Amino acid sequence: MNLSQTVRRVARRLPHHPAVTSDSGAITYGQLEDHIGRIAGGLLGRLALPRGSRVGIAMENCGEYFEVLYGIWRAGLVAVPMNAKLHEKEIAFILVNAGCKACFCTPDVADRLGALEIFAPGMPGILPIGSKDYAALLRSEAAGEVESAPEDEAWLFYTSGTTGRPKGAVLSFRNLLFMSHCYYADIDNLDERDVKLHAAPLSHASGLYAIPHIAKGAHNIVLSGSFEPDRIFDVLTKHQSVTMFAAPTMLSRLINHRRAGSADTRGLRTLYFGGAPMYVSDLKKALDIFGPKLVQIYGQGESPMTISFVAKHVLGQTNHPRREEILASCGVARTGVDVKVVDDAGRELPPGEIGEVITRSDCVMGGYWNNPEANAKSLRDGWLWTGDLGFTDAEGFLTLKDRSKDMIISGGSNIYPREIEEVLLTHPKVLECAVIGREHPDWGEEVVAFVVPRPDADVSAQDLDALCLENIARYKRPRDYHIVDNLPKNSYGKILKTDLRQLLKESGNA
Ligand code: AMP
Repeated sequence: MNLSQTVRRVARRLPHHPAVTSDSGAITYGQLEDHIGRIAGGLLGRLALPRGSRVGIAMENCGEYFEVLYGIWRAGLVAVPMNAKLHEKEIAFILVNAGCKACFCTPDVADRLGALEIFAPGMPGILPIGSKDYAALLRSEAAGEVESAPEDEAWLFYTSGTTGRPKGAVLSFRNLLFMSHCYYADIDNLDERDVKLHAAPLSHASGLYAIPHIAKGAHNIVLSGSFEPDRIFDVLTKHQSVTMFAAPTMLSRLINHRRAGSADTRGLRTLYFGGAPMYVSDLKKALDIFGPKLVQIYGQGESPMTISFVAKHVLGQTNHPRREEILASCGVARTGVDVKVVDDAGRELPPGEIGEVITRSDCVMGGYWNNPEANAKSLRDGWLWTGDLGFTDAEGFLTLKDRSKDMIISGGSNIYPREIEEVLLTHPKVLECAVIGREHPDWGEEVVAFVVPRPDADVSAQDLDALCLENIARYKRPRDYHIVDNLPKNSYGKILKTDLRQLLKESGNA
């Protein structure tokens, strides 16, 4: 099934029901369906994109997001959503890697990308929202029915790779439908009385979870700009049956806000959080404030939103004898999903023993885009090797111990040290460097860099910061630089990041 059919069905039954409300106004399901058809018609007709072409979406949260996403699908094309906060060079890399022929952008991103030569002559290239080209697309004749098979590619989900280069997890309609059915099975059954609040980037979890909501005719409220707890409390006061995604850092900002505890949050139906570890003390506070309406989700781009979970009633069970352990865990396998903790040879480990988490289900990606080497590592005998380390208990609750790949999670965004290290190493005065995460009360973690200058060279933190600003997204920049004579290494010459973390702790810097 082509997911754009879900909108057509809702529009047929509930044409006047609100579909999307944002700062720029509101549209109904009838209007959403009309826009989707016309955008698809324009992509196939005016822009003559062949079936299966990849189309980028480098858009901030805005009211047009869903007509673009579903318009791409309606045309039988593949969407490549990207975080609009990425540096233009990072966006350009993804567009080239995915072989995108066009990219929808919000105006600020379009301005930033405009100076780069990304698209070959003759390709549609950048399509800014609100531009004449966009208006022309919306005037196109609507595309007819485009049949899609369940295994057709729908969404290329770009994650940063440990090699420093982002990799595109290829998600099919089947993957996204399975994710949606799992939402109905484990989280909530939905209908048109539900409201989906989007306060997190639509290129990631919030956008993925729009899919089960749109299929059931829910009203999507899209907040643009940065995460503002005040606006969330306003929506919860005004609307009923609201569901939303929050990264743990967002949730922590919500519960530490002055209105937390006093605002009327009866409008909240479900708040699902995940993407990074959640501190138990924050989780307890959140449960006190919102009641048993929280769900923890563990997933990754390669198995979107769907590996394990802690259900509402389980998080709400205050008298459970193993409450602390359950709150610290990321729950049990989702319905219909296999999850195991294994040793290097893939043998399942008994409860309590730490190993790599692997999973198998119809949610698991077909593979990475054009990357057989990464596929061979991550997909073995039908199982996805997540790169996360953890253990299970006798009841099947999974607890994540560490991220095997040294990934840093700051403000809910994944930051891969290698990517920053590669930028720092381009500085002519830098000999070696290592990037690690340091605990941060608001962001979960922040980035810290250790840098060894070349002999007799003098390198300043300002120089390095300027270099990062030129090449990577602002949120990935190190917040602190330690200029050192050498880095701790093991006998193979590998840098020992555990020693660096210890060093920070001992110096009172952790
Ligand atoms: P992404 O592909 O950006 O969604 O990032 C996925 C990674 O985030 C996972 O492989 C985990 O390392 C981490 N993660 C996701 N959910 C959780 C969770 N509930 N608790 C702890 N870490 C998580």
